[in-house]
This record gives sequence, structure tokens and C-alpha cells, in this order.
Amino acid sequence: MRNPKRMDLFLLLRPLTAFVTRPTAVSAGVQGRGLNSCFRLRSAEKNGLGRLQRRHFSPLSIDAAANTMVKTRRFITVKRFEGEPKPSDLKLVEEELPPLKDGEFLCKAVWMSVDPYMRAYAPRVPLGMTMMGSQVAEIIESKNPKFKVGQNIVGYFGWQTYSISDGSESAKNGLEKPFIIPDFKGLPLSLALGVLGMPGNTAYFGFLELCQPKSGETVVVTGAAGAVGSIVGQIAKIKGCKVIGFAGTDEKCKWLTEDLKFDAAFNYKKTTVAEALKKAAPNGVDCYFDNVGGETSSEIIRHMNDYGRISVCGSISTYNATDIPKATVVQMPMISKQLKMEGFLVHRWSHRWEEGILQILQWIKEGKIKYNETVTEGFEKMPTAFINMLRGENVGKAVVKV
Ligand code: NDP
Repeated sequence: MRNPKRMDLFLLLRPLTAFVTRPTAVSAGVQGRGLNSCFRLRSAEKNGLGRLQRRHFSPLSIDAAANTMVKTRRFITVKRFEGEPKPSDLKLVEEELPPLKDGEFLCKAVWMSVDPYMRAYAPRVPLGMTMMGSQVAEIIESKNPKFKVGQNIVGYFGWQTYSISDGSESAKNGLEKPFIIPDFKGLPLSLALGVLGMPGNTAYFGFLELCQPKSGETVVVTGAAGAVGSIVGQIAKIKGCKVIGFAGTDEKCKWLTEDLKFDAAFNYKKTTVAEALKKAAPNGVDCYFDNVGGETSSEIIRHMNDYGRISVCGSISTYNATDIPKATVVQMPMISKQLKMEGFLVHRWSHRWEEGILQILQWIKEGKIKYNETVTEGFEKMPTAFINMLRGENVGKAVVKV
């Protein structure tokens, strides 16, 4: 049974329903063959807020003789996640795709992403739909001059191996449209899902725009060894800040201090925030990049200096919770220290997407940013990779090689 309290929470989080795709028939420009009806995502507002609508139309015509039949494999949700997701909550299905129509292209997934938002927004997705998600895919057939065979793109096609798109997601729905990957100058394409993609831009814009860090300030990052957090900390170092990270294992903390040059890192499972900050930030915290929420964040906020800035990026400590978790109220420190706290969705900066990616690419080339990927091999392992990422088994970005 769906927890009504949890639904209230996710109504607030509605914009990321934008990531949902429905593969049977047409969804947001992404196609698969199938039923007489489908779900289509449409944007009610120009800012990209998604609205789920049920629409009915005729099945796509299939002409087996017209094209070589391509079979796609995809994961659909068959059971609501309760607490930690289970492999049995998902089912792998296979189906043939229809021939291409004018304006469409066919692409083959090469790398798939597993991200925390897939857990956070899952309660809003009807059962039977393809698991939401982005992928790096190669265009293998095209009837769209803007998308050429051989080009690599990032697309929000969900957990499926082959997809048909008309490339117009953005125009139709305000969603992220398939994005042709720029020249990474020899770096792996998988980075388009991590440091040179959505998580990288989350770190770049979410930290710089909301925290407005100044040289010499003290910055705290939670989820520090993950895809977003590990980049936030390094950007903070580039900006001349003192950086303190919290992560879930000693090995991650060692990576943060030894390789990424964080000034200090603490295993939050072994040390309290108060103990850690007493030691590493005796003069208080100026900027907090919050990936985890919950009591950890309340405690960090209590240690902030006057006019401190908090960028609220995620709340992963609560995603698997079956009831809304409770944490110490933060209003008094916010008032007395005159703090500024702001949540964001990275797509706020869609219009500056390439700027963030090209800046991070340059920092990588200059040796100022390092990255790590935790790679799982095999499309059929998507559920395992997803569950492992939520458990904290990834260092840096969790990706799946199809
Ligand atoms: P990560 O690569 O950081 O992977 C998730 C990590 O979360 C795990 O490795 C684990 O690391 C940590 N974690 C799991 N459970 C808990 C817990 N109970 N308490 C603390 N940490 C936990 O994921 P991303 O970098 O992709 O995402 C980080 C955050 O940013 C998420 O909250 C995500 O929802 C958010 N996000 C927000 C966006 C936005 O637009 N606002 C865009 C992208 C991401 P550990 O071993 O340290 O526990």
C-alpha cells in the first residue's frame, strides 16, 4: 500500500516526474510498440514541471517487412518499492520496436545510469512503466537530419536497450531532450552520465550559484564520495575553500582526503557531526551542500556561521524510509545566524548546460578535478547496480555497461 504521507512529500517533488518514460507506444517522443493506450508526459508550465496524463490512441502500425526488426529489452516496475528496492519489484521484458517514421531515430544504449532520484520519484510512477533513467546511446539508424548515425547522445529513455525518439522531448514537454555529447577530448563517454553530465552540473550550478563560496570559507559536503558530492568538494577547493566531507566508509574518506584533497573527511557511521566539526571546523561552517537531509543536516546547520548558505540538493537518508523521518528543527539557528537555505533542481540551469560541462571538462584536463566510476557490467544487472548505489557501494558515479 502506498503511504499517503509519502505521497504528499512527492507531490512537492513533482518536477522530476519529467524523467518518466512510457515505452509501450509513445512517451515524450520515445517509442516502443505496444498497447492501445499509453501515458504521455506533458508540461503544464514552461518551466518544465511535468504532469502525467493518460491518453488513448491507436497502436502503432508494425510492418515487419519494412525494417529489420529490433528487439528492445526493458525493465518495468511490477511492485511498489517498500523500503529498500528489491530485484523482484522489477521485471525484464522484451519486445520488438516498430519501423522508424520520418523525423525519428533509433539508438542503442551503451551506458546506463543509476541515480538516487529513481528511488525518490518512483512512488509517483504507475506500475507497469519502464523504470525512469538516462543513458548514453549510439544512434544506429536515423530519419532525422539533426541526429546522425554514429553520434552518441544522452537521452532519458528509461531502463531500455533500444529506443526510438524524434528528439523533440524538450519542445513538446519541457523535458531534457536527447543531447548530442560534445567532444570529450578522449575521455570516456560514460562520463556524460556523471562528472560531465547531470551530476557534474548539479555540483557546478547547485554549489556555485546557491552557496556563492568565497576563498577562505569553510564548506561541508555530505554524500561527499558520491557522483555529486565528490565534484562539489573539488570545486570548493578550486575556489580556495576549506572542505570537509561526510561519507559512509573509511575507504571513501581516505579517497576524499588523499586523492581529492579534501581538508578532512569523516565516516558518519562512526563519528558524530558535532565531534567531527569540533575538530575540523572550530570556527564554524560557511557553506553546506546537503545531499542527505535528516538529522545529519540539522546538526550541520547548527554549526553554521552568520550569513551561512545551504544548498539543498538531496535527501538520500530519507528515500528508503517508509514514514517521513523526523529531525531536529532548524528554525532557531536559521534565524539567529541569518542563514540562507535554498533547494534546487539542476534543470533550472538547462539553458547553461554546456557551460557547466565544458568548464568541468577543462578542470579535468588541468588536473584540478578527478573522478571515479563504479561500473556494473550487463544490462540485466541494472536492479543490482541501483540497489548497491542506494546502499553506498559506489565511489563516485554508479553506471552500468550495457
Ligand atoms: P551518490 O553517487 O552520492 O550515491 C548515493 C550515495 O548516498 C551512496 O553512495 C551513499 O554513500 C549515500 N547514502 C545512502 N544512504 C545514505 C544515508 N542513509 N545517509 C547518508 N548517505 C547515504 O548519488 P548522487 O551523487 O547521484 O546524488 C547525491 C544526492 O544528490 C542525492 O540525494 C540525489 O537525490 C541528489 N541529486 C539532486 C539533484 C537535483 O537536481 N537537486 C540532481 C542529482 C542528484 P555513503 O557510503 O556515503 O553513505
